Amino acid sequence: MSKGFLLIISGPAGTGKGTVCKALLERNKDIIYSISATTRKPRVGEAEGVNYFFIDEEEFKRMKKNDEFLEHAYVHTNYYGTPKKFVMDEVNKGEIVLLEIDVQGALQIKNNYSEAVFVFLLPPTMEELKNRIVKRGTETEEDINRRFENAFKELDFVGKYDYFVVNDKIEDAVSDIEAIIKAEKLRVKRH
Ligand code: 5GP
Repeated sequence: MSKGFLLIISGPAGTGKGTVCKALLERNKDIIYSISATTRKPRVGEAEGVNYFFIDEEEFKRMKKNDEFLEHAYVHTNYYGTPKKFVMDEVNKGEIVLLEIDVQGALQIKNNYSEAVFVFLLPPTMEELKNRIVKRGTETEEDINRRFENAFKELDFVGKYDYFVVNDKIEDAVSDIEAIIKAEKLRVKRH
């Protein structure tokens, strides 16, 4: 088996990260998904231990203090973190582990781990991005505006990533990421 690595996928809210990651995992059963811990409340249809580990702030602080996170960040008024042990055990076994995280978390990983590949997902246009956030219908107007403003800030970080993928059609975005994975498996040197 080739060497394992972290596959980091970031992108502004509404780029369709969740949908693309889900389709990628369905088509590639060998990719392991890293389930993050968050203090955000579950949305309708989200399940504990599937989408996230939903924890309170006290538990989040305890995990942070015990150095149990690979990275962590405060995003859109909530805390999010990647449980370290699970992810590193899988990478050390030679697996590819997918982390769907924000730019702050991605930068922490970039500074600390060389075995990581960074993919930034972009919407076809900013107008389309706003439509997608509104259409999701799970957020309040205040949340929608905050997420849209954050989207512009996140776009500044594209240059820190190894690849960018435009999510116009989901299948095309997934195929692009599969091509990236294939190339990365064959890579001789990383960073
Ligand atoms: P949502 O609340 O919509 O599920 O996620 C909000 C943002 O938090 C998204 O940009 C998502 O990628 C990011 N996020 C989810 N889990 C983590 C994590 O463990 N670490 C970091 N840094 N960001 C995360």
